[in-house]
Amino acid sequence: MTVPAVPADPDPEAAGRKRKRKRPCKHIFVTGGVVSSLGKGIASASIGRLLRNMGFSVRIQKLDPYLNVDPGTMNPYQHGEVFVTDDGAETDLDLGHYERFLNQPCNHHATYTSGRIYQTVIQKERAGAYQGGTVQVIPHVTNEIKCAIKVLAEPEVDVVITELGGTVGDIEGQPFLEAVRQFQIEAGRENVVLCHLAYIPYVRAAGEMKTKPAQHSAQKLRELGLIPDFLFCRSEHKLEKELRDKLSLFCNVPSEHVIELPDARTIYEVPLTMQKQKLEELLTKRLGLPGRECDMRDWKLMLQHIRKPKDTITVALVGKYIRLQDSYKSVTEAIDHAAWANRLTAEIVRIEGEDLERDEDWRARLAGVDCIVVPGGFGKRGFESKVMAARFARETGMPFLGLCLGMQAAAVEYARNVLGLTEAHSWEMDEKSPDPIVVLMEEQKDIADLGGTMRLGAYPCTLPRKTSRTSKAYGGREVVQERHRHRLEFNNDYRKDFEQAGMLFTGLYIPDPAEPERSLVEIIELRDHPFFVATQAHPEFKSSPVEPHPLFKALIATAYRQRMQAGGRTEAGEG
Ligand code: GLN
Repeated sequence: MTVPAVPADPDPEAAGRKRKRKRPCKHIFVTGGVVSSLGKGIASASIGRLLRNMGFSVRIQKLDPYLNVDPGTMNPYQHGEVFVTDDGAETDLDLGHYERFLNQPCNHHATYTSGRIYQTVIQKERAGAYQGGTVQVIPHVTNEIKCAIKVLAEPEVDVVITELGGTVGDIEGQPFLEAVRQFQIEAGRENVVLCHLAYIPYVRAAGEMKTKPAQHSAQKLRELGLIPDFLFCRSEHKLEKELRDKLSLFCNVPSEHVIELPDARTIYEVPLTMQKQKLEELLTKRLGLPGRECDMRDWKLMLQHIRKPKDTITVALVGKYIRLQDSYKSVTEAIDHAAWANRLTAEIVRIEGEDLERDEDWRARLAGVDCIVVPGGFGKRGFESKVMAARFARETGMPFLGLCLGMQAAAVEYARNVLGLTEAHSWEMDEKSPDPIVVLMEEQKDIADLGGTMRLGAYPCTLPRKTSRTSKAYGGREVVQERHRHRLEFNNDYRKDFEQAGMLFTGLYIPDPAEPERSLVEIIELRDHPFFVATQAHPEFKSSPVEPHPLFKALIATAYRQRMQAGGRTEAGEG
């Protein structure tokens, strides 16, 4: 989708007519200090989960101060994975955490960047909307930021959680903090809570934890007119009472509002760590929300499975942004969820595509795992490793799941090595291939801009073959919705040849039933294979720990069954 402008300030009267509010919407802001990558997204999502389990209706959003209109045009090394919503927004990976923790979908209002805010302001200026006035950061940019915050406060919503990207002190973050300062006054302080997440380093040489960086970041906030209500302390170790008191004194928050968040075994423990410190009670009290029980039984049950796996399963992930932990965040999460659902723990063996291509012993590397996942991607680099991984899985019967580019690689492999079309390729990698198995979609041919122009978001996928592994994995459903982010598609001219050779087309997008030849191949599956499924979609975006994705679940279940039949542990599993 082309990124929409910030919507106009919602008319409170119109909203009131729709449904009378019992009480004003409450807002929780989460800022970060000292360093980045502390887990603001996980903290925000964890608060959301606690409030949701108290029966409140919660929405979460992320405001990112960088100037890209959205992260869609950024390299994964810059930004990690690009997460896609049902309505086709290309977003920050924190939205993935929000969806996984709350098990509820976000939309394009859950993500605003400076780029999008400024784009709206500039469009308005060009249209003459400011009637001759000088356009300034305050009030014009801050007004748009406030609109972006208010847009989620629909009448049925009790609490909106807004995470501010970046770290306090960043120049580009200042208009956002200023907007929060103004918003606090407009909405009433009693309706707004500010949580500040800071790092408490452990200085080995001194043998103690240091509070000074946190004090400085709280001070920086105060300079901007913001006083944190809660201080979240990320640290390697637990906080002693003395430190807590010191932080309370210097950062100007009550001692019980200093919440410790030491490193956890899994991110899914964070809501319970918060609950132990009664955060949900303190928050609701501070916001004047009714006191309710926070029933986390479902969450605790899920954690029990995580903590007590019966065995380990090894999964090779063959990609090209392997060095950066966050590049395939939703994929590795979906693998974990599926492993937990099978009472296992996943050991993900990250394989850099180009390393595999250079390795003479590449088959042995793949032979050491239980199954293979080939994720999505763009461009030529590392593509052949994806083809090699698909070939290995096809020939050896190793369970395989291909995602987007992973499906395209599997199709190219099949054409080359089963149909004998040795020069088969994807148009993206070789425009001159005599056998373009994957081609640019018709509607993409005239598109020049890169931002927001792919086939994005959720589309229905029909599962026509009831007996296929795909259909069985999806529990016999006839139509499923999956999210997309691509420009190319399987070339339908080759469908018949593939089918005759034993490839099944088990998922199709059928825009018009009268023209079946226009359907788009969504899922392919090898007929004579324990589990070789590849999809044009990104099912990983819809997996959560309480509702793991069926395709990932089936992959792991088959891989484990196969290993047990073969007599137990694999080499990599033993290592
Ligand atoms: N590059 C491929 C395309 O655009 C695959 C995209 C992806 O894996 N997300 O179709």
